[in-house]
Amino acid sequence: MSRKHELLNLMNIDTSWMKNIPNGKMNLLSFNNLELEAKNCDACSLSNTRNNVVFGKGDQKAKVLIIGEAPGKDEDLSGEPFVGRAGKLLNEILFSMKLSRDNVYITNTVKCRPPENRNPNSDEINSCSRFLDGQISLISPSIIILLGKVAAERLMNTSEPMSFLRGKVHYYKNTDIPMLVFYHPAYLLRSPSEKSKVWDDILLMKSITHGS
Ligand code: SF4
Repeated sequence: MSRKHELLNLMNIDTSWMKNIPNGKMNLLSFNNLELEAKNCDACSLSNTRNNVVFGKGDQKAKVLIIGEAPGKDEDLSGEPFVGRAGKLLNEILFSMKLSRDNVYITNTVKCRPPENRNPNSDEINSCSRFLDGQISLISPSIIILLGKVAAERLMNTSEPMSFLRGKVHYYKNTDIPMLVFYHPAYLLRSPSEKSKVWDDILLMKSITHGS
């Protein structure tokens, strides 16, 4: 059984219908359908105030999946994740890991902007979880990077502080997909003294992906 099927089965999703569809085509169809559903979604109140649904961007077959918190003002206006100053800093972090936007996939825990850039609440995160869970299953990444506490709480169901979560290898549900927790670029812009710690995160990422 492929890892993608394992992930879907973990979520109690029947995968038997997939067996006659070539893998690449099925992924593309499912991904496009999921994105279309999100673009028409009104499952939570964030749909009332958004300009655009920010589903995610990048390589749908990426080995590295990056999950942030929620779209901000620039993302809401452009429909793309991590644009503006935080996006530029994320580009620099990716560059340090010999990655670029073309070979990762970037998304958020919720696909619509919370007003005034507040953190998404648990109802909004739960309403949006099927989109994120679907993305993880379809991409079937080799590693997941969680940017900030909101993403870490969502994926790990934990309330531990960032100081406890960073610098360790976690795993996605009961799979062997490693997850790392990095500071969110927006936090680093607000707290420049913490920027040097990103290098430790990058080294940990390199130590895991070395040779892969
Ligand atoms: S945040 Fe997610 S659940 Fe809420 S309206 Fe947007 S796409 Fe739907």
